Amino acid sequence: MTVEATTAEDRLAHVTAKMTAAAKDAARDPAEVTLIAVSKTHNAATIEPVLATGQRHFGENRIQEAQGKWPALKAAWPDVTLHLIGSLQTNKTADAVALFDVIHTVDRPKLAQRLAAEMAKAGRTLPCFVQVNTGKEPQKGGVLPEDTAALVAACRDQHGLDIAGLTCIPPVEDEPAPHFAFLAKLAADVAVPGLSMGMSGDFETAIRLGATHVRVGTAIFGPRNT
Ligand SMILES: *Cc1c(COP(=O)(O)O)cnc(C)c1O
Repeated sequence: MTVEATTAEDRLAHVTAKMTAAAKDAARDPAEVTLIAVSKTHNAATIEPVLATGQRHFGENRIQEAQGKWPALKAAWPDVTLHLIGSLQTNKTADAVALFDVIHTVDRPKLAQRLAAEMAKAGRTLPCFVQVNTGKEPQKGGVLPEDTAALVAACRDQHGLDIAGLTCIPPVEDEPAPHFAFLAKLAADVAVPGLSMGMSGDFETAIRLGATHVRVGTAIFGPRNT
């Protein structure tokens, strides 16, 4: 008999249980892995019951969409941490710094410079992840693997950014595990602690390979609204 989880709260509990099991399998402390519930395309009424369970980390990929729903949700749940997981245009950095708490998509020097300037202006320090294009896909954001060390160094030394880790989104047609293993090796090489990797279909694999942040949308909220 299969038991279908029917609400986002049920599915969240299911995901959390799988995360705990994957961490234990890998002899890791489950508390080392942060679940980011990716709420893009879902409205406040869908997100609120998940907040009510105690889930506090959420991810959005579009600034404008996040601006429409998160100021009110953050006012009601002030301890929420909002993660920007989508590509960031340089002219949107002020908006991003005002609303988000963690940026996962730093991928070029100009963006690092603008983020640092806006953080100084706003008096906020946001942890940042450098996104790496591990599949070298032309249409995808992220710095190339071979340019990652230089970008991390520039972020830290020239711009004073707090680089919390690396992010990757493997090509959809690839086996994700080699990309996760590669990102983990790269993070060790450039001495950054965090690994933002793993989505609905592969978060357990990512945890086994060292993920500190998994970004899970569909497995919690169900199919996205288009
Ligand atoms: C949408 C999105 C996710 C979540 O994807 P699911 O497959 O629905 O879990 C994770 N990371 C990024 C960068 C995304 O844009």
